[in-house]
Amino acid sequence: MKNNLIILGAPGSGKGTQALKLVKDYGYKHLSTGDLLRSEIAKGSDLGKKVSGIISAGNLVDDLTVLELLKANCNLGQTAYIFDGFPRNYEQAQMLEKSLLSDVKNYKAVYFEINLDSLVERVVNRRTCKNCGEIYNTKTKPAKNEVDCQACGGSGTVVQRKDDTLEVVSNRLNIFKDTIGPMLNYYESKGLLVKLDASKDEKALFEDLKSAIE
Ligand code: ADP
Repeated sequence: MKNNLIILGAPGSGKGTQALKLVKDYGYKHLSTGDLLRSEIAKGSDLGKKVSGIISAGNLVDDLTVLELLKANCNLGQTAYIFDGFPRNYEQAQMLEKSLLSDVKNYKAVYFEINLDSLVERVVNRRTCKNCGEIYNTKTKPAKNEVDCQACGGSGTVVQRKDDTLEVVSNRLNIFKDTIGPMLNYYESKGLLVKLDASKDEKALFEDLKSAIE
């Protein structure tokens, strides 16, 4: 079976876009904790109500809440998963190892390395289809009529995420800077880390990603 994959990278580094490509071409299951949390908000669940303000401000939801949500949404062993957005810090990396990956053991961590200064523009120009998750960029990959999704045919479904504004993204990038180092050291010390140059365009990065996982 294919390795499970942990994708690490700053907001806007291309994790979600590349994960969707892996799902289409290789049949991985994509687990994005950001998507799971946003879907709780959309449903209006108690959990959604609890996390809505935290996410809008670009802060992290507490580790245990996200771990429980993740556990409830995956069944390791049958299919290979892509973990996107979890772990977000060293404690979550350990939680993932102990409570989910301890039995299956087969996984790799892939880090999408990119100069953080280039990401603010990417994120504020990002648009996402609220139906299918397809990711657009107003400058480099615009949606049809700005709001219609070519991927799922949704009309008016392509929107800007509330936390993709200039102010909030700066906070998210600062949190990323503070948390990424110990996670990279952790996976590197286990010999499980692959670093990819995420400044490359979508296709070139996908080629590198395929070589890394094969
Ligand atoms: P991005 O990678 O662009 O920051 P995500 O969709 O992964 O976007 O995450 C959006 C928000 O959801 C985060 O800013 C945070 O508030 C929350 N979130 C997602 N994953 C986690 C996590 N593992 N731990 C804590 N909060 C999380």
